[in-house]
Amino acid sequence: MDKIRVAIDGPGGAGKSTVAKAMAKRFGFIYVDTGAIYRTVGLRVRRAEANPKSAEEVEPLLADTKIEMKYDESGSQRMFLNGEDVSDAIRTPEMSMYASDVSALPVVRAFLLDMQRAMARENSVVMDGRDIGTVVLPSAEVKIFLTATPEERARRRYLELQAKGTECTFEQVLADMNLRDKNDSERATAPLKQAEDAVLVDTTELDLEASQNAVAALIEKRMQA
Ligand code: C5P
Repeated sequence: MDKIRVAIDGPGGAGKSTVAKAMAKRFGFIYVDTGAIYRTVGLRVRRAEANPKSAEEVEPLLADTKIEMKYDESGSQRMFLNGEDVSDAIRTPEMSMYASDVSALPVVRAFLLDMQRAMARENSVVMDGRDIGTVVLPSAEVKIFLTATPEERARRRYLELQAKGTECTFEQVLADMNLRDKNDSERATAPLKQAEDAVLVDTTELDLEASQNAVAALIEKRMQA
């Protein structure tokens, strides 16, 4: 069978990565978490003490920024920045904001585009992000826009951070999430938006299993077509 590309876009905390990972496992596809790539650029910028909103400060750093994506024995995606495994370091609220800031810069988006497309040339993929169905893989076979209310998404993210022992309040998480949604949706280049041909899946009232079943049904339908 030909390669299948599944694009899952949507705001933070909608359950994209959990659902995408489960779909990759279920169908034997490769999972690509594109947010992790932007987070890795964010970390590079943070370490250089550069302003993540400034193209003038960020662009020169890209020349010696080598980003690699590898998969460990369990199939989990690991991110490498200039040879160092930064997979855990990029998972902080601070890096979420850095990622959101650098991702608004066209020079950063252009820098990462080929890398993302290359992954989908070689493999059947489930790729999640903000602009996969609109920009990265506009001809993806399956496009899903996964969302939930801001309160529900913040609640999930808060529980996730609590489980990791990250100190934060629900109000803080909700405020960060709203700010990130605003940045991501209002930026000029590749804003977060539902592709015209994407199917909207609202997970506010769905538990994980129901969310996964809803998305799996869409993939199966396409595979049988
Ligand atoms: O998905 P995650 O929360 O890890 O993404 C971090 C940030 O990276 C997002 O808030 C968004 O600004 C940016 N991003 C993006 N395009 C993507 C994936 C992530 O702009 N395809």
